[in-house]
Amino acid sequence: MTYDVVLIGGGIAGVTLAWFLKRVGATVLIVQHGRFPCASRIAAGLITPVTGKRFALSWRFQEFWQAAETFYRSCEQSWQTELLQVPRAIRIFQSEEEESRFLSRMSWLSEWEGLSREPIAGFQSPFGYFTMPRGARLNISRYLEESYKRLNIVEAEFDWHQQARATSTGWVLDLPKVGTITTNDLVLCQGDQARLQGPFQKLPFLSAKGEILRLRIPQLVCEKRIIHSGIWLVHDVGEEFLCGSTYEWDQLDSLPTEAGRQKLLEKLQHLLNVPYEIIDHQAGVRPIIDRQRPVMGWHPHFSRLGIFNGLGSKGSLLAPYFAEHFVNRWHQPDTMDPEVNVRRFEL
Ligand SMILES: Cc1cc2nc3c(=O)[nH]c(=O)nc-3n(C[C@H](O)[C@H](O)[C@H](O)COP(=O)(O)OP(=O)(O)OC[C@H]3O[C@@H](n4cnc5c(N)ncnc54)[C@H](O)[C@@H]3O)c2cc1C
Repeated sequence: MTYDVVLIGGGIAGVTLAWFLKRVGATVLIVQHGRFPCASRIAAGLITPVTGKRFALSWRFQEFWQAAETFYRSCEQSWQTELLQVPRAIRIFQSEEEESRFLSRMSWLSEWEGLSREPIAGFQSPFGYFTMPRGARLNISRYLEESYKRLNIVEAEFDWHQQARATSTGWVLDLPKVGTITTNDLVLCQGDQARLQGPFQKLPFLSAKGEILRLRIPQLVCEKRIIHSGIWLVHDVGEEFLCGSTYEWDQLDSLPTEAGRQKLLEKLQHLLNVPYEIIDHQAGVRPIIDRQRPVMGWHPHFSRLGIFNGLGSKGSLLAPYFAEHFVNRWHQPDTMDPEVNVRRFEL
């Protein structure tokens, strides 16, 4: 089994990189194992242009959005399935002070539709809200499922210390139950697991755990907009909605907690005025490195060992643009955007 590139990790980073590598004719194998947490499987897939307390336009949003929309639409066309929805997104102000802050930023946000004080059925919105025309949602689990059907993928636990051997032309991997694999390039797309083990462990990870609730809200079935208000709420299927998410930096595991659930319920209590039922609760860890900038490129001591990671809380928006960027500069690391090149760190 010989490949041009082996990718470790079958989350949105590994899968999207695989698609761009295939576009330039590379043979690619993804090695992935369900024992390791996969943030992409629980992510809601939201793409949000305006975020945070200061209503800042998300970093290079237009550029990344254009790349993301083009890529996901091309997947939809080839696979004949819907992946990307572009519903309206609204942000309901949580206080008068927040509304005034928004007004003072309006000149920045001139293309947004602006304010409304119209009541919204099912919600408490005494301070009004504004509409962002370009909110979007990627159905990440469907994107992964459809990709797994079409890409070369094996289920195996990868252990950097035991299984990877550098040769003069690349790498030999001895994977239990799979066998020996040779590859020119090995790229680690392990999400937060890279923090715990392996050659990129020294990167300055600031990963954040997040928790999400699945709710049944029969009285909101007609609400198809993405709602932001300290938390977000988005329609999923039937009467079911997803609601998230928390940020927690201390206990970085994928176990749902009572504290996380309470944080979300507290916010929901101020947001909704219709009954709901909790039907599921999940947690995952966002791979955050250095101000949520992605990290990619080649290890300083192993020229054919790469990384594609650090998608933070914006995997759906960032993965297509940066997978393409990495592939276009595969053998010219010096031409890579210095803001995302892994060489900006000491390893
Ligand atoms: C609660 C929550 C909500 C989120 N909501 C959104 C959202 O609305 N929109 C958005 O864009 N992003 C969201 N995110 C962020 C998003 O999940 C991440 O940006 C993205 O999933 C990162 O993808 P990744 O492929 O780098 O890592 P992951 O998805 O974690 O994938 C890593 C993969 O590597 C595999 N792996 C790791 N180590 C090994 C090994 N040794 N051997 C074999 N396999 C291995 C794992 O099994 C996994 O498949 C959210 C995250 C969380 C936690």
